[in-house]
Amino acid sequence: MITTHQKPDGDAMGSSLGLFHFLKQFGHQVTVISPTNWADFLDWMPGSKEVLDYERQTADANMAIDAADWIFCLDFNTLSRTRRMEEKLNNTTSQLILIDHHQEPQEDKFAYGISDTGKSSTSEMVYDLITDSGNADKINEPVAECLYAGVMTDTGSFRFPITTAAVHRMVAHLKDKGLQHSRVHEELFDNYLENRFRFFGNVLKNRMEVFYEYNTALIAVPQQDLIKYNVITGDTEGLVNFPLSIKGIKLAAIIIDRGEERKCSFRSKGDFDVNTFARKYFNGGGHFNAAGGQSKEPLEMVVGKFIEAMKENKDQLSNYQF
Ligand code: 5GP
Ligand code: MN
Repeated sequence: MITTHQKPDGDAMGSSLGLFHFLKQFGHQVTVISPTNWADFLDWMPGSKEVLDYERQTADANMAIDAADWIFCLDFNTLSRTRRMEEKLNNTTSQLILIDHHQEPQEDKFAYGISDTGKSSTSEMVYDLITDSGNADKINEPVAECLYAGVMTDTGSFRFPITTAAVHRMVAHLKDKGLQHSRVHEELFDNYLENRFRFFGNVLKNRMEVFYEYNTALIAVPQQDLIKYNVITGDTEGLVNFPLSIKGIKLAAIIIDRGEERKCSFRSKGDFDVNTFARKYFNGGGHFNAAGGQSKEPLEMVVGKFIEAMKENKDQLSNYQF
């Protein structure tokens, strides 16, 4: 069994399906379970039709978990990231194996595994597993496409500092194996519905505030906007990068009222650590320059809390250096 974090992104789904297509070649019976649904723009991935959604197919998923000898946990560090699956994973007698690049993994939960924050993506780590175990011959087109989708999305199309020479060597190797990279980009980025851009237009015009004194920009999205623009899972992906690309901005945040909770995303440039920021103020975590969190409080209170937190970090934020 292979699982990943709730609302899987390109790396979560890409690493899971990459490992799926790899393991199947040995004759293993492999099931991929996502804790929740996922964005439509991931549906092109080979194997995605076979992925179980734990919330919608709970009985089938529980059966797969009960039958599993091994449970691979990909692209998350704590079992709470699997939402309603957490309890099941906590009580299973199967061995959990971690492959992940987030900080501070819940080590006691995993029998085996590797956690390396120096890796660009979990997809890169699955690639390492395949090649380091002497199985490069098993990189076929589905494996290559899934792993490429993961490493490309997690590196912001190869722009983040974590994009090492090894990442580019991996991509070169995948190209040698028949990867059609343009197809992957088109599938991921050119498949949105018009409403997403109407929504972005509204948000950038009416919901964004820039605090130049703090080199910070915040977008707060009320639930009524999500309803009005028919926003679906995945539509808000990438929105936080707009304020981050304003000249001088060091910290960008987006707080979305999703009804059941307020979901926060944080992105930074240079030396501002949003992993610590998200942990300290928003019950979250992630990476140094990309993290998230959530709150049960009303949107206005979460916004207020963010502004207070920003002010508390003034020294670090107003001092802009890379
Ligand atoms: P995103 O903003 O794209 O949802 O998430 C950015 C990064 O932060 C991802 O690596 C994700 O795993 C992590 N992250 C997002 N939300 C949470 C959260 O609520 N808790 C923790 N621990 N990590 C999160
Ligand atoms: Mn990842």
